[in-house]
Amino acid sequence: MYRGSQGIILKKQDFRKSDSFISAYTCDFGKIEAVARGVKKSKSKLSGHLDYFSIIDLMVARGKNFNHISGAVSIKKFLNIRKNLQKINLVFYCLEITDYFIKTGKKDEKIFLLLSRLLMISDKNPHIERLKFIAHCYILKLLNILGYKPELYFCLKCRQKITPNNNFFSAQAGGIFCAKCKKNREKDVFEISNSTIKLLRVILQKDLLNLVKTKLSKNLFTETIKVIDKFINFRLDKNIKSRRFLKF
Ligand SMILES: [Zn+2]
Repeated sequence: MYRGSQGIILKKQDFRKSDSFISAYTCDFGKIEAVARGVKKSKSKLSGHLDYFSIIDLMVARGKNFNHISGAVSIKKFLNIRKNLQKINLVFYCLEITDYFIKTGKKDEKIFLLLSRLLMISDKNPHIERLKFIAHCYILKLLNILGYKPELYFCLKCRQKITPNNNFFSAQAGGIFCAKCKKNREKDVFEISNSTIKLLRVILQKDLLNLVKTKLSKNLFTETIKVIDKFINFRLDKNIKSRRFLKF
């Protein structure tokens, strides 16, 4: 059986002598894993089409042991990403996290759209600090779609509505405690400012494209990255390889 869809490569690994094992997020089938036969040979029809940072028309054939990529045509290449090592590292980090959190076979067009937006913004935007912010927005939005939604409106313990001051974020509990309820949790909470809470809510509501121009002070930038980074790290049980090239 053959199936076709647009897809974005999440991970490519060497497989046998001239093949690659590919993980991709597709619009119509969610995450797929498949072998690209002969892709490392220069004469292969597939080579040149199965690159990172591209939107690709993929044909996938179901096999006995593995799925196979039976056709691939790259329809949009985000070439500017490849020109900048910091961009490459940042987008790789997002792809690796996406591959880590998503299992095969569950389709969600929202994820495909979010991933396409990430590539588009990273390609166009030259400012790496801004892209660090966008990469963190991407990951928070992705986790939100996957059901790891941080609680940003009510105290996790007493369920009272969050008031502007004296709030504490817990990465472990996945949300905010009011000053009264953070007692006995000193180890895993840290103070979070009202502007960061508001920004996190905005990130979850708005399209990634609309977040590119967000006004950010140095403090707001630093605190938002810190909160999202801790939130992610608590939900990962392995070290993400591409993380070691990045400084947040
Ligand atoms: Zn409380």
